[in-house]
Amino acid sequence: MERARDVSELPKAHLHLHFTGSMRPSTLLELADKYGVRLPDALTAAEPPKLRATDERGWFRFQRLYDAARSCIREPEDIRRLVREAAEEDVRDGSGWLEIQVDPTSYAPRLGGLIPALEIILDAVDTTVRETGLGMRVLVAANRMKHPLDARTLARLAVRYADRGVVGFGLSNDERRGMARDFDRAFAIAREGGLLAAPHGGELTGPASVRDCLDDLHASRIGHGVRAAEDPRLLKRLADRGVTCEVCPASNVALGVYEKPEDVPLRTLFEAGVPMALGADDPLLFGSRLAAQYEIARRYHGFTDAELAELARQSVRGSAAPQDVKDKLLSGVDAWLAAPAPAAA
Ligand SMILES: [Zn+2]
Repeated sequence: MERARDVSELPKAHLHLHFTGSMRPSTLLELADKYGVRLPDALTAAEPPKLRATDERGWFRFQRLYDAARSCIREPEDIRRLVREAAEEDVRDGSGWLEIQVDPTSYAPRLGGLIPALEIILDAVDTTVRETGLGMRVLVAANRMKHPLDARTLARLAVRYADRGVVGFGLSNDERRGMARDFDRAFAIAREGGLLAAPHGGELTGPASVRDCLDDLHASRIGHGVRAAEDPRLLKRLADRGVTCEVCPASNVALGVYEKPEDVPLRTLFEAGVPMALGADDPLLFGSRLAAQYEIARRYHGFTDAELAELARQSVRGSAAPQDVKDKLLSGVDAWLAAPAPAAA
């Protein structure tokens, strides 16, 4: 019988975590109280909400909940708290490197504009890195629902802060809206500025959206990308190019992309040689954090400890961490695997 090591002790990198969505539920309740915000029932229930984002109404409902949570983040101290707690949760789950994704536009009105908003976030990340020892950086993400010119502005801003902790540029929200190529200029600005391109694709729409991310945005990582599993040629292309897919199994099930955890095509991607970085996406709404994603791979997809170690290595290799950080994490992965597994209970 396979003996299981603790996945929360497996060193790994976390490459898909949204800013507001990283919040602890208890923190949301406290902030809502602080500002007198009445939260929708779905955000105060003990169980995560059942969403069906595969239709537009379901996605809209998800966005409404997300907006309600975001409206509770108002002051720099809230930002600092959120960043610190996201890091603490990650450390608890064995993460040695966290790339958190944020669209500073959402916080700009309350914090005095785009630039102050991003600076407050980056300062908070700096402080958190010093206090927790966790390697942490920022992806600036544009919103697909907004005008491509807004995305260009954000890309320029992101590039300006490349030496202050911004490592990548993303594109989030409803894949069914607009075309990836509408955002090609923004991504060109980001890439030319040395940022890695990590747009969302292949979540709500099929393999074509992943191809668009590769062809039009020259993505070096894909947010989700799971629907690539429907196209063997695309899988081969992702594997050949070493494009890491930031796969978020619990999110996929919570949003109805797949019915059950066992339906998320982790095995298909893994066997095709597509590098993956498991991520929690929005733990606030989906009810599970980083280590739980590795637990899903073990429990529903039969990943052995050696295979889980390989998933962790893929997350580290796909990250923007400096080489010395990668080396340290990779040797930590080897040590995790080399240690004797505890006796089965
Ligand atoms: Zn996401």
